[in-house]
Amino acid sequence: MPPRRILILGGTGEARDLAQALLAAGHSIVTSLAGVTEKPVLPAGQVRIGGFSGAGGLAAYISAENIELVIDATHPFAAQMSRQASETCRPAGVPILRLERPPWEARSDDRWTTVASIAEAANAVPAGARVLLTIGRKEAALFFARGDISGIARMIEPPADQQPAHWCVLRERPPFSVAAEVELMTTHGITHLVTKNAGGDATASKLEAARVRGIPVVMVSRPVKPDVPVFTSTDAVLRAVERVLSP
Ligand code: NAP
Repeated sequence: MPPRRILILGGTGEARDLAQALLAAGHSIVTSLAGVTEKPVLPAGQVRIGGFSGAGGLAAYISAENIELVIDATHPFAAQMSRQASETCRPAGVPILRLERPPWEARSDDRWTTVASIAEAANAVPAGARVLLTIGRKEAALFFARGDISGIARMIEPPADQQPAHWCVLRERPPFSVAAEVELMTTHGITHLVTKNAGGDATASKLEAARVRGIPVVMVSRPVKPDVPVFTSTDAVLRAVERVLSP
């Protein structure tokens, strides 16, 4: 197949692996990053950084760059970008696929409370809890606003809202070992883990640590994403790309 021009909507490790694999298969790719991370781990190949200023901007970019296929490899919780991509590609007749890692599933020895939103998660934590909060930087304020809970809010970039004195912000990037997660929970007297159901291996050690410590987990379910063909591995996407782009 002659090289084809593919846009990867990135921001995940899976998107980086995919960029590498598509380059190796001889395609011309560009990965788009939102620009929210100060020092992002860059994928191989061409990269553009920053929002598109909505669906109109994305449509203009696809047209100007002669993009023939869009692969949405954003994080499972990046709902807005996925919606914009699907709403842009369909009317333009540009095929779109999604690469999405499977969600985590509770084991019989897990103590999960599954909730539909961060707001529900903030309400699900009992008074007096010491929380390990791993939901990112944008929505931590709902937890900071509760005067009756405290803990560690772990994130890569600084929080969108200043944390109050009873919370500590830990700026760290995964992966984390199970031993390190157990130690963090023990040292800080953590009683509850709050996490989004991101799935994948890079951050799953906190679930194992919670299991080891018998700590309850408040698990935020994924948002509903648009109905486009979804693949869970790089290899499956590569096969789909050959099918979609074959003349
Ligand atoms: P979002 O809520 O779905 O999108 C917000 C806005 O950010 C979009 O409307 C778009 O701006 C811009 N944007 C998002 N992804 C983009 C991309 N790949 N390329 C160009 N612009 C992008 O996204 P989010 O949850 O803030 O996540 C932002 C980025 O971080 C995503 O790329 C995602 O893969 C990554 N990420 C997110 C999470 C998470 O928990 N949400 C975790 C790890 C990594 P315009 O409207 O201006 O086009």
